[in-house]
Amino acid sequence: MSYITSFVVSSANNNESDFMNIRFSRRDFLKMTALVAGGITVAGIGGPLLIGEKEAVFEPNNSYWAKEQPAANPTLQEDLTVDVAIIGGGYTGLATAWHLATSQPSLNIILLEARQVGHGASGRHGGMVLPQLGVEAFEIASDLTTHKQLYDLTVKGMKSLQKLVKSKGIECDLRLDGYLYTFLDEEDLPYYEEYVEEVQQAGLPLELWDEDEVAEALGTEIYSGGVYDPNGGSVHAMKLVKVLKAAAEGAGVRIFGDSPVLNITEGETMLLQVGKAKRTVRTKAIVLATNGYTSKLGYFKYQVMPVHVQTAVTPPLSPAQLETIGWESRLPFYDSREYLYHLVLTPDNRIVIGGGAAEYCFANDLRYCQDLTKTSSLMLNQLISMYPPLKGIQFEYVWDGILGVSFDDVPVVGVMGKYRNIYYGLGYSGQGVNLSFVFGEIITALYQGKQHDWLATSYANYALPYIPPEPYRWIGGQGAAAYYHWLDNQ
Ligand SMILES: Cc1cc2nc3c(=O)[nH]c(=O)nc-3n(C[C@H](O)[C@H](O)[C@H](O)COP(=O)(O)OP(=O)(O)OC[C@H]3O[C@@H](n4cnc5c(N)ncnc54)[C@H](O)[C@@H]3O)c2cc1C
Repeated sequence: MSYITSFVVSSANNNESDFMNIRFSRRDFLKMTALVAGGITVAGIGGPLLIGEKEAVFEPNNSYWAKEQPAANPTLQEDLTVDVAIIGGGYTGLATAWHLATSQPSLNIILLEARQVGHGASGRHGGMVLPQLGVEAFEIASDLTTHKQLYDLTVKGMKSLQKLVKSKGIECDLRLDGYLYTFLDEEDLPYYEEYVEEVQQAGLPLELWDEDEVAEALGTEIYSGGVYDPNGGSVHAMKLVKVLKAAAEGAGVRIFGDSPVLNITEGETMLLQVGKAKRTVRTKAIVLATNGYTSKLGYFKYQVMPVHVQTAVTPPLSPAQLETIGWESRLPFYDSREYLYHLVLTPDNRIVIGGGAAEYCFANDLRYCQDLTKTSSLMLNQLISMYPPLKGIQFEYVWDGILGVSFDDVPVVGVMGKYRNIYYGLGYSGQGVNLSFVFGEIITALYQGKQHDWLATSYANYALPYIPPEPYRWIGGQGAAAYYHWLDNQ
């Protein structure tokens, strides 16, 4: 979706900008901003003004999904020496733990989580499971081969996740029978016609649906059409955490909760300082599975930044409400706005809705710096405009979460450091539920020196563009936000 691709920045529907009457894409806009900001910083004008990071805080997970928080893991109480220490207990950390431990059972692997597993985005997201990279989805590809490779690879990941869920026998409401990508503006139709024709020729099973077909499937009449993808679907965020935790622990990984990594000393043997009691972990390798929180550990400070996004859930709809809204297909969907909306209908008939805003808080602040009630009314108004019969409904839960967003929304996975022992997978930019599972597999392949299909794509070894420091980062963010809000209001 570039679900957040679009949140933060753009989408396909601005490939042609009316006001300039030239092709002016999101990437062009970002590149231009990056060049200007980078130029200012390199010229030294920014030097004296550079402002450091705000300290790490781990705000409570107030999401609806958090009710299903699995049993807490113990705090690290002793010094340890291990082969691999995974930092972060979201999907990336848990998936890496499982992939690595099952393919190399002799390894001594631990996972350190600042709070409890699922504390971050993995326990707070919007519930959509999507193929592709956000940045590639529904964008006419300059490189169709890569587009197809990534689609196949991510669909394969999804199937393998489904297999794991089945094997664990833990219900997590995983439904993979497709989703819809919808667009509002009739003028975008030729773009999507071209996109679907192109990718169908390449073998992607996507279908273009007209206004009536979308309205029949979703009940809402606000869209001018959509693209149906039979791969993808939805899941209960925290129940999936439960599955992955059980899988990792079942494979022998020890998980420690309330054990934040406070400091990392690099070396052939890495030293981690953990928690208030300042326990020491000696390890031959670490995995940074901290996505939006990573800059706090001193890594990716100029490549991946925390961005806040919000989601809400209604109470279960009554059978009468469900009938009047007419969302008969129950297909999850997200739309093509810059600040897109995404919706999921849960098995107990609640609507999960997210979107409409994405905020960067000064100096990489992990505390939400805006008014949650405002975003909540934005989402509620949007829900009512999609489904007028729901007028009067109130949300039962509204919450904030943190994405790790790269400048051009490209996620990265790899290994770095003098001793090639710092592994990472991050920068999902809002579309990471499925991809983080795939990245766990790629990290495992890298660790074992094995080949993986991802490593044969043009995204392998991708160099993320530079994001300037403060105050340019914040100023640039405000400018970009104003521009995307402006586009959404055209
Ligand atoms: C509101 C919201 C809606 C979203 N909706 C969707 C969606 O519908 N579909 C989709 O595909 N994607 C969605 N995403 C994105 C998706 O949730 C993420 O890409 C994915 O969960 C990332 O997983 P992760 O494990 O890399 O990061 P996280 O789940 O954020 O995990 C990082 C973990 O690291 C821990 N940590 C951080 N620092 C330290 C430290 N120093 N020591 C120890 N532990 C540490 C944190 O506590 C956290 O638990 C959404 C995200 C948000 C926030």
